[in-house]
Amino acid sequence: MLKRSRVCGVLPLLALGALTSAAIAQADVPPCPAAPAGYDAALWQKAWQLHHAALVVDTHVDTTTRILDIDFDMGHRADTGHFDLARAKEGGLDAVFFSIYVDSRFYGDEAALFANPPATINDDWLRPAEPGAANGSARRALDMIDGLLRTAARYPDQMVTCSSVAELRAAVGDHKHAALMGIEGGHAIEGDLGLLRLFAKLGVRYMTLTHTNHNEFADSCAPAAPRWGGLNRLGVKVVEEMNRLGMMVDVSHVSDATFFDVLAVSTAPVICSHSSMRALCPHPRNITDEMLRALAAKDGVVMINYNCGFVDADYAKNRNSREATRRIHEKAARDKFAEGSAELREALAKLDARMPAVERPPLQKLVDHVLHAIEVGGPDHVGLGSDFDGVPCVPQELDDVTFLPRLTYQLLAAGQSEATIRKVLGENLLRVFGAVEQRAYALRGTAPRCNDPATDHLPRER
Ligand SMILES: [Zn+2]
Repeated sequence: MLKRSRVCGVLPLLALGALTSAAIAQADVPPCPAAPAGYDAALWQKAWQLHHAALVVDTHVDTTTRILDIDFDMGHRADTGHFDLARAKEGGLDAVFFSIYVDSRFYGDEAALFANPPATINDDWLRPAEPGAANGSARRALDMIDGLLRTAARYPDQMVTCSSVAELRAAVGDHKHAALMGIEGGHAIEGDLGLLRLFAKLGVRYMTLTHTNHNEFADSCAPAAPRWGGLNRLGVKVVEEMNRLGMMVDVSHVSDATFFDVLAVSTAPVICSHSSMRALCPHPRNITDEMLRALAAKDGVVMINYNCGFVDADYAKNRNSREATRRIHEKAARDKFAEGSAELREALAKLDARMPAVERPPLQKLVDHVLHAIEVGGPDHVGLGSDFDGVPCVPQELDDVTFLPRLTYQLLAAGQSEATIRKVLGENLLRVFGAVEQRAYALRGTAPRCNDPATDHLPRER
């Protein structure tokens, strides 16, 4: 479906009497700005038109954390962070899966919860009384959902919450931002299949099975040693239940063993909501070519992450070494001068001047990941999952969501067809989302899975 017929520059010359409501709606289309330095003007204009006519979807935006933690109001244009509704409109981003992100420190089994409680938590009841005794994960997820719903309630003319492909397309056709939800960190369901069903009922349409922690049913890629060796029996039921509920199973953040277990178990296509290519940047959060081929063979899609540390190995190496050195110098200054003193302030300022931040990777580094994914997985299995507002660094020329048309330009400049670019910008994700909905329809009437404490934590039967 053509989203809307946007034009670059002035509106077409229409007789006033012939103005339709659709044509009137074009009046708020942002005019095509001058081509950025070094860009070909004609190709820029073509990219602008293509980008704004395409349906553009991003499967991972963390602005929900800003809503809760700093009371961020995304209904007003801001000059901090990567995303708000005004900037999304300017950047032609039509639909977003907002991350219902639950930090691993909310997970009751983690000793880290006690050693290092999140700075933003003020409520004592969120903290377990003793290690392993309680878990604030589901509550945090509910607060995240409430934060997004409160925002949607305030700005009904700008955004609408959606939980299906049809609702998403209708919202975009109605010139409103389509807001969807995906849980990040399967510990949000606290190992409870009933909670998974309730989150689905609230409109959550994907779940990243883990974050940086192993949980009750699946292993993450972050810890050095596995806990289950992939999915355990509860993990199998979680995936099966997500298939039944029409929730996309998200394998970003999981261990490689969990990844392949999920592909073996799921009867619907699977997504990587925000991961890049390990062949170009060897980080465990990225997926290998073999994993991408397996994902594509099940008609899934990898949504490329913009995080500097995931797209450019040199950046990651230089940043880590700079931070390690800076920490040593900063500690020496803090040991020498009193906290809050003018001497300490001066010493830290000098340190900053002597050790400037590592230069961000060029946009081309990110484009290379998209092109590699298209080459290895095929044009039907690639999309965009920015991680906006969830990462400290995004590539040059992509400072926030308003810069997105430049990505479309670079894909055109690299020789990609308009059809492929439309798929990458959103249509691939919508195809997979639709297939997951169809699978749920086929499974209607099947019995919901239930927890069984006696067997849930046994190894998966292979
Ligand atoms: Zn993430």
